[in-house]
Amino acid sequence: MHRIESEIKMKIKNFKEVYPGIFRIVEQRSLRVTPPINLYVIAGSDGLLFDGGYGDDVSIQIVGDAIDYVQSINKNWRITRVLLSHTHPDHFAGLRRLQQQYHLTIMLTEPMTHVIANRKSYIHANKEDGVLKKRYSTIQQRLAALPLEFFYQKMFKKLYGIQYVPNPDIIVSPHDTITVDNTKWKIIPGPGHCADHIMLYNKEQGILFGGDNVLRSIYTWLGPPRSDLQAYMQTLHSCLQLPHLECILGAHGKPVANPKQRIEQIIEYRKSRTKQIYSIIANAPNGGITFDRLMNMMYPKKNGHRWLGRGWIIVTIEYLLNKNALMFQDKKIIANPVDINSLL
Ligand SMILES: [Zn+2]
Repeated sequence: MHRIESEIKMKIKNFKEVYPGIFRIVEQRSLRVTPPINLYVIAGSDGLLFDGGYGDDVSIQIVGDAIDYVQSINKNWRITRVLLSHTHPDHFAGLRRLQQQYHLTIMLTEPMTHVIANRKSYIHANKEDGVLKKRYSTIQQRLAALPLEFFYQKMFKKLYGIQYVPNPDIIVSPHDTITVDNTKWKIIPGPGHCADHIMLYNKEQGILFGGDNVLRSIYTWLGPPRSDLQAYMQTLHSCLQLPHLECILGAHGKPVANPKQRIEQIIEYRKSRTKQIYSIIANAPNGGITFDRLMNMMYPKKNGHRWLGRGWIIVTIEYLLNKNALMFQDKKIIANPVDINSLL
């Protein structure tokens, strides 16, 4: 026990009790494309890990150490289960190894099982359909992107340490309640960032495990094909409605201690970005703009920001198309005369 404690102390930045009986584990890889991610342990006799994290050796070891440590502080505590927030690779990659090495029971929702069952199902779920491809890229652009895509697909498994999950142990439903000793945690659907995103809420303590939906210092990534701005806004509003919400423990960064304020800030930010896109299109000379031209205006430099930013711009255009605020005419995006404020 002493050996474990001293080892954990060395890794103290990776591991912290954020609430009595709730521990945050930080997995930090050295690669720039893989952000540090938080996993959370709810300690108890049938304790739960929220999210699977990365699947590389170091990340799996950190989780193992954390489980040992938590179990060493209270002889009644056992960590037996892991619940996934959503099927992005920094969250699910480690699940299978946690199941195999630490005998954790994997808990997924039905839609998650269809995404991460194997490589083929994962690629299928993340493919942009014909409509999106036609709208937002040319054949030349798609051809030019092929070598990078090929490289990414080859590297993808290695980057995150991915193991797919063909055999989850328990299927949970949105709105189910999970009990850890005397505390009740309710599963709350939270689509928008990712279609199968769920959150976990304890009303008595006012603690929400928000996954990627509400982060303290960054705005969560949005992009096709599995993000949806309308759903995301609804998720943010549903978080605002939670009774006694005191703190959000997110998947990246520190706890959000002023949740309502932060959620309202994110809502305002998304509204202002949506207005910005609409107004650029509405004010374009010759009555419209191509997607490429819009991208050049928003991100003039061809760098990582532009690559990441493409996602939220597409998701925002799709939102405005659904509201009939925009339409496509061939390759041009044209604004319909609407009161944009009433649509947000
Ligand atoms: Zn995510």
